[in-house]
Amino acid sequence: TRKRIVAGNWKMNCSRTEAIRLASAIVTMYDAIDNVELLICIPQIHLADISKLLINTGVLLGAQDAHWEDKGAYTGEISASMLTDYLVSHLLVGHSERREMFADDNQRVAKKFAAALKNNLKPILCVGETLQQREQGATFEIIKSQCQAVIDEVGIGAFANSYMAYEPVWAIGTGMTATPQQAQEVHAEIRSWLAQQDESIAARLPILYGGSMNAENAESLLVQPDIDGGLIGGASLKVEDFLKIYSAA
Ligand code: 13P
Repeated sequence: TRKRIVAGNWKMNCSRTEAIRLASAIVTMYDAIDNVELLICIPQIHLADISKLLINTGVLLGAQDAHWEDKGAYTGEISASMLTDYLVSHLLVGHSERREMFADDNQRVAKKFAAALKNNLKPILCVGETLQQREQGATFEIIKSQCQAVIDEVGIGAFANSYMAYEPVWAIGTGMTATPQQAQEVHAEIRSWLAQQDESIAARLPILYGGSMNAENAESLLVQPDIDGGLIGGASLKVEDFLKIYSAA
């Protein structure tokens, strides 16, 4: 049995007060479920406040991005090694918004993934196709190249201590969720492709679905055999919805 995880991606949302209020509500209202991790990936500027709040709660803390070098002349950036001072355990790498708007190409994503591992952060590699790529029948080619870049950098062992998130770009923030069948198909294809390289790593890798997952549609997605959790954007900012998704996992 694979580990299951429900992860919130707050993106660039929440003032300091709002962040503290939301995290406190999660901590207060959440009932831990065996073998299902609950994670929030928050803006870096709130890490100091929220990490204090999450101590000994069982709720895990993640960041949304990090630079691949430990330090240096990279104005405005934060390194993976800096994140470890704040009880951060997980790092999103290659989110489609970073790929689209902040020049995170496959090579940079692979370097960020490696930096996360080097600093004992669990990377969550985000992969997924655009609508145009899906319509051209290129979905799996795109995802394969996104995964292959990481394998080229770190080796297949990269996926022994990490997570993957399948987030079809056309489903993110659009209300247009992939159907459970569409998502399951891609998850199974990723797993069987990885299994050709290492069967046991593929069998153990948690693959999350992301893209307009909400309290209503979560269960139908999470019951699919190869969907091991969710990466939740909008709905992770509403505590009841987020915890309902957690219960469905
Ligand atoms: P939404 O849940 O808002 O569609 O965002 C998904 C996402 O990008 C999570 O990383």
